[in-house]
Amino acid sequence: MKTSNYLACPECDLLLHRTFPVAGEKVHCPRCNYLLHNPRANSIARTFSLSLTGLFLLFPANLLPIVGIKVLGNSHDGTLLSGSVTLFNEGMWGVAILVFLSSILFPVLNIVLALLISGHLYFNRANRYLSFWLRALKHIEEWAMLEVYLLGIIVACVKLAAMAELKFGLGLTAFVLLLLVTVMLSGSFDSTLFWQRIEQLNSHEKK
Ligand SMILES: [Zn+2]
Repeated sequence: MKTSNYLACPECDLLLHRTFPVAGEKVHCPRCNYLLHNPRANSIARTFSLSLTGLFLLFPANLLPIVGIKVLGNSHDGTLLSGSVTLFNEGMWGVAILVFLSSILFPVLNIVLALLISGHLYFNRANRYLSFWLRALKHIEEWAMLEVYLLGIIVACVKLAAMAELKFGLGLTAFVLLLLVTVMLSGSFDSTLFWQRIEQLNSHEKK
């Protein structure tokens, strides 16, 4: 596949000459002002190191207790997974599935896919699944809503604080760090550059 010299504005379909701006130089559509390119410095290396950090944070965030609750002498540690399981056992399976997807599955996939893609690009390795992974990542990003879950934890803690003794666990620290890394990850991601590099790598492979 030859790289086309034209691209259509995703917002208003205006046909434009493809440009290759350098980092820090934003390109907007001349008709509707849609942000076409927003190149970021060292996007691939930054995405790679951030997703690697995220991978290590996934374990404590998911396995260590987020919050410990002590009621009438009984203490109970809650992890991300036990939250979903409790909701499921209480019959709120819709919420349980939503919590599981948005706080565990999608954030994990988000980090793993970002690591796979940036790792391949960083080490110049072609892979026929690269474009599939990148498309999947773009969809998953919208569904990984750690911040919504964090808000839920805060609300629950405020309500519970009156009737139970609360203790914040190391899992919460890891969870907040994971949230920060995820936000920085989407900020370091330059999809135009990633698409270009994937096209280059895969066309080299076919020759
Ligand atoms: Zn436009």
